[in-house]
Amino acid sequence: MPLDVTDSTLIDGKAIAAQVRAEVAQRVVALRARGVHPGLVVVLVGEDPASQVYVRNKDKAAVSAGFAVETVRLPASTGADDLLEVVQALNADPAKHGILLQLPLPPGLDADPILRALDPTKDVDGLGPANVAALWRGEEGMVPCTPAGCIELLDRSGVAIEGARAVVIGRSQLVGKPLAALLLARNATVTLCHSRTRDLPGLCREADILVAAVGRTDLVRGDWVKPGAAVLDVGINRGADGKLRGDVAFAEAREVAGKITPVPGGVGPMTIAMLLANTARAAARAADVPWDELVVAAPGA
Ligand code: NAP
Repeated sequence: MPLDVTDSTLIDGKAIAAQVRAEVAQRVVALRARGVHPGLVVVLVGEDPASQVYVRNKDKAAVSAGFAVETVRLPASTGADDLLEVVQALNADPAKHGILLQLPLPPGLDADPILRALDPTKDVDGLGPANVAALWRGEEGMVPCTPAGCIELLDRSGVAIEGARAVVIGRSQLVGKPLAALLLARNATVTLCHSRTRDLPGLCREADILVAAVGRTDLVRGDWVKPGAAVLDVGINRGADGKLRGDVAFAEAREVAGKITPVPGGVGPMTIAMLLANTARAAARAADVPWDELVVAAPGA
């Protein structure tokens, strides 16, 4: 079924991400007027083709939002000590406000010690232990980009989070767990599901907000969706035809859902938008500029 962008059930992630990016770009202008040029550095180890594409897209988006951008490309043969040295040098560089380690690392290179070594104030993916702890403790920190993007999509689509029953499928460090923490912090009642969950369809049917972050095409069927629910599909799966599909059987689910994200064009575009927002925030904090002073004009103003 072709996508109808005028369909009020559709959450248009592309449009919302463009809005977020435009707001970030305005804040970057305001920061630059105060002599702060937000800088993002992406560290890419190896030649993984998907990562190359992601990094190119991040570079492009960051440049067009006014950031100073650098990509550090290292060979797949890079050792842990050398990578640590690179990260430590970037930690010490005041022009780099955000450091993103592109994952996955090549086989044999463990991301954990590198994420631990990242300066938490520059860890714009929010994956280091200090930021994970801050998230669960309800303290200020850097929030992982994809879950932060999910919350932004709900907020900007008028979905009420407080008091809602939220079911998140998938418990990864990158998406499921931090999203559960964010929803909980916003006073949703959260159920976090995974591969050993019993009666997944039954739990999903209770959800006012249903998020699928699994990596299995069409896992969530239309009859798993509570009528009127908001459905966010984080999954990115490439079919045999080369097309991208989500974790939700979209055509079925959109008949039942109140709001739903498509794949592509839903959660995906938000990840880069939130990366830019996190980097601008990091730059503002480093320069002691209150975020709220970086006024964003109302649309059309
Ligand atoms: P992951 O680390 O592989 O985690 C997948 C999770 O799904 C695990 O917790 C796993 O449970 C659970 N799971 C697997 N099969 C299941 C089943 N049959 N029923 C219920 N749960 C099941 O994946 P991830 O990194 O979170 O990514 C998830 C998906 O989101 C992928 O398609 C990825 O490409 C996509 N993604 C998209 C974005 C974006 O920007 N839109 C960003 C990140 C990821 P166990 O823990 O029990 O193994």
